[in-house]
Amino acid sequence: MSAKLIDGKAIAEQINQETAAAVQRLKTDHKVTPGLAVVLVGDNPASAAYVGMKDKMCARLGLHSERINLPASTGQGELLAIINDLNFKRSIHGILVQSPLPAQISEDAIFAAIDPTKDVDGFHPLNVGKLALGDLTGFAPCTPAGVHELLIRSGVKIEGAHVVVVGRSRIVGRPVSLILSAKAKNANATVTVCHSRSQNLAGICRSADILVAAIGVTRFVKADMVREGAVVIDVGINRVDGKLVGDVDFDAVKDKASLITPVPGGVGPMTIAMLMHNTVLSAQRRLGVA
Ligand code: NDP
Repeated sequence: MSAKLIDGKAIAEQINQETAAAVQRLKTDHKVTPGLAVVLVGDNPASAAYVGMKDKMCARLGLHSERINLPASTGQGELLAIINDLNFKRSIHGILVQSPLPAQISEDAIFAAIDPTKDVDGFHPLNVGKLALGDLTGFAPCTPAGVHELLIRSGVKIEGAHVVVVGRSRIVGRPVSLILSAKAKNANATVTVCHSRSQNLAGICRSADILVAAIGVTRFVKADMVREGAVVIDVGINRVDGKLVGDVDFDAVKDKASLITPVPGGVGPMTIAMLMHNTVLSAQRRLGVA
């Protein structure tokens, strides 16, 4: 059996087109332009590249964007004051603080200071708590939300499926498991979360109808960890000899899976698409038209 590819680029583009249309409706019907503020502290080149991609996507889809570049020496109090200003700014519907932050700033303190209704990255404790309760009315983090959309738009039946998530980080693994196990439409999966202390990992993975790999170890998931016909979602982004490689041994696993995401071009493009989607959703919620 050879797997069909899940084309994350095409699915992300479909979502982007829907977002652009929603932006136009907000402009025409309500005279509102959704706005995203992105705060970058320091000059980490990877972070600067991500932030640049977000700016460009805002421009392409018709959103207003504001970039706030701060030096690496910025103190926590200074950053909190900037967040507070953005919380009150009417033209801003989404606030994203690019991580990692310099050591003198607590990420938890910063995430907790963002107005939860503008927390389009989904890291405020209120939004994390809602997700933990199975309440999908807050904001879910963008990469996990992207994994969910990829499954839905690829026609994968999530309800009742056994999903195995390898990885329990707050950015990917844990929120993916919460979204897919929620008592909600397009969810209701039976989810097993694995991590570095899990025993019989290969056996657990083989019992998955849907296997989500969010480990950060190049080609960790081998063919003997995948059941014939399983759906495999590879969240991993690892750089090997200048090339992007996932957490799944793609060439070996593709012959066993029924559907598989490539790296690059799978989950990757979904993260920015969901960020734009969440920003527009925030504007719609403020207007009561979500
Ligand atoms: P983290 O390092 O925060 O978490 C990795 C998780 O994998 C941890 O829960 C860890 O377990 C588990 N793990 C590590 N080694 C093993 C092992 N040998 N066996 C079983 N479990 C293991 O990574 P992230 O969640 O932030 O990212 C995961 C991957 O996804 C990375 O490749 C990252 O680059 C990528 N990523 C991609 C994004 C995208 O847009 N597509 C966005 C964010 C991340 P433990 O908890 O026990 O330490």
